[in-house]
Amino acid sequence: MKLILLGPPGAGKGTQAQLLVDRYRIPQLSTGDMLRAAAAAGTDVGVRAKTIMDRGDLVPDDIMVEIIAERIGQPDTGNGFILDGFPRTLAQAEALDRLLEQRGVTIDAIVEIAVDEDVLMERIETRARETGGSRGDDKSTAKRLENYREKTAPVSDHYRSKGTLKRVDGMGTVDEVAASIDAHLRPLVEA
Ligand code: AMP
Repeated sequence: MKLILLGPPGAGKGTQAQLLVDRYRIPQLSTGDMLRAAAAAGTDVGVRAKTIMDRGDLVPDDIMVEIIAERIGQPDTGNGFILDGFPRTLAQAEALDRLLEQRGVTIDAIVEIAVDEDVLMERIETRARETGGSRGDDKSTAKRLENYREKTAPVSDHYRSKGTLKRVDGMGTVDEVAASIDAHLRPLVEA
């Protein structure tokens, strides 16, 4: 099962991805986690990315495409994978289309978790308070949402126009959202 999870920051992509990892025994490829690991390890890319992430901005496309091209080639993705946090711009989505085509890989489902904006603000701020992270200040939260609206929302349109996007309501409980996602994926497994 090869999946792409889309949705704004705070939509619960990470939580749902974790449930899908358990259900389908496939790795979650979270670009946010990869960048945080690189930052913690103090690599050149990680140090550069940390400054950008703390501002709530997006790391440049060429870096992200390189990271994901390398990650999708790893042996643990043989059974599939869940892309979480990538693609986040139209350029990334187009680069991913090319990469997958070159490698003869097809994505089984692209799932978008949709959530109202005021609920998002509340969720992101609560998460920031709970984790005590620096990304929680109002300015970076607003920036993250602005980047989502301007740069990431067109990614959904890209897949919608190709007819491959499945949209689920992300406003329910974790279990409800998981059930909606499952309703889209089960027929693919049974097919
Ligand atoms: P996340 O954990 O997915 O919310 O990602 C945390 C931060 O990492 C984002 O706010 C961005 O600064 C950066 N990031 C993660 N994935 C990408 C991506 N695909 N393109 C650009 N920046 C990214």
